[in-house]
Amino acid sequence: MTIESVVIVGAGHGGVQVAISLRQEGFNGRIVLLNDERGLPYQRPPLSKAYLLGKIGETAMLFRPQSFYDEQRIEHLHDRASHIDRRNQRVMLVSGGAIDYDHLVIATGARNRPLGVPGAELGGVYGIKTKADADALSIRVKQARDVVVVGAGFIGLEFAAVAAAEGANVEVLELGDRPMARAVSSQMSALFADAHRSWGVSFNFGTGIVALEGEDGAVQRVITSDGRRLLADLVVYGIGVVPNVELAQEAGLDTENGVRVNAELLTADPSISALGDVAAFPCVQNGGALTRLESVQNAVDQGKTIAARLVGKPAPYAALPWFWTDQGNLKLQIAGLSVGADHFVTLGDLPARQTSVLCYRGDELIAVESCNRPGDHIYARKILARPPALTRAIASAPDFDLKAWEAASRA
Ligand code: FAD
Repeated sequence: MTIESVVIVGAGHGGVQVAISLRQEGFNGRIVLLNDERGLPYQRPPLSKAYLLGKIGETAMLFRPQSFYDEQRIEHLHDRASHIDRRNQRVMLVSGGAIDYDHLVIATGARNRPLGVPGAELGGVYGIKTKADADALSIRVKQARDVVVVGAGFIGLEFAAVAAAEGANVEVLELGDRPMARAVSSQMSALFADAHRSWGVSFNFGTGIVALEGEDGAVQRVITSDGRRLLADLVVYGIGVVPNVELAQEAGLDTENGVRVNAELLTADPSISALGDVAAFPCVQNGGALTRLESVQNAVDQGKTIAARLVGKPAPYAALPWFWTDQGNLKLQIAGLSVGADHFVTLGDLPARQTSVLCYRGDELIAVESCNRPGDHIYARKILARPPALTRAIASAPDFDLKAWEAASRA
């Protein structure tokens, strides 16, 4: 069947990319982009970094200006999808209307996992997901004296670095025994823990939060799982996300840890695709296991894959995953997935915090983590995307250089 209308639910990184790529691919039909947030669609990464620090403004975060959506005939609607009527290929809107689709893209992303402890509703307690969160936090962080960050993942640590730079006392609570444990090697965790400590951040590993206490509706203390009461006039939590699967679930689609899609990012309904933070797809780099990735690269590349399929160029999604985080003066870039890594080779200057950790599963290079070595990251992406294999023996040689090896391996 010819596709004449595509409705995209969610105007984040993935949803907007589908719309852009459809036009780039020559799609001439109707495109409707449903946005349940205020204003024009924007990028999320600066919310916990440059935008929070006031280094970039609102306009710099926008994907495109209004004129782009007008010129490209992308109908950008401020509305929320409430229900999918699969039989009639129609999306019902919270405002009361409905839009018919030939193809529907579920790009609803994920929401912050709530703190779920007594006192979580107090003023001064924030997750960071939207521009509205960052706007409120950018004022609060300048006034805060005692900041408690719950969760030492990317977002928690990005905020911890900002709060420390603003002069606050920062305590980080983390149930695990090292920062960013889900995403990076213990070598890289140690480097970042040292860096944060040098910026004045204190870590409390193996420690959770059991309650928040306050007065007059404002948070004042955090009660930790080991019974301490930490002063806190600002609490920021980053303890993971919950995919926004409800729309798909109510429509009868499979939604275990994300909307289940096949290698081409199609759900079991051939008229519905899903992508980005909300989608669980068979990931080549994770042995084909259903995987949900939370990154800009994943949402954007999946958007391109879906748009290409809709104009008749189907291909399995196989892009190499990559991620980044900015904390203080450190930029960490990760190429590949380090799940199951058991051997590590470190390159560069560890004390200067300019280092790359090559992560191996057996003798197979599966990921490269680069701190303040952007060149290594670029070459790592090339090396991981194609053979020949960079073995541990080669990488462990004195003075080994990724750039030189990548160039030689192509010759
Ligand atoms: P989103 O961008 O979250 O967009 C989903 C949109 O759908 C949202 O606007 C949501 O409100 C909307 N929506 C949900 N339900 C409905 C509905 N029923 N109707 C209409 N709209 C709906 N990734 C990186 O790679 N590097 C980083 O440095 C980085 N930093 C980050 C910092 C922060 C503070 C956050 C929150 C995320 C960060 N990420 C980073 C993750 C990255 O932003 C996400 O992986 C990416 O945004 C996922 O894109 P998406 O399109 O799947 O979802």
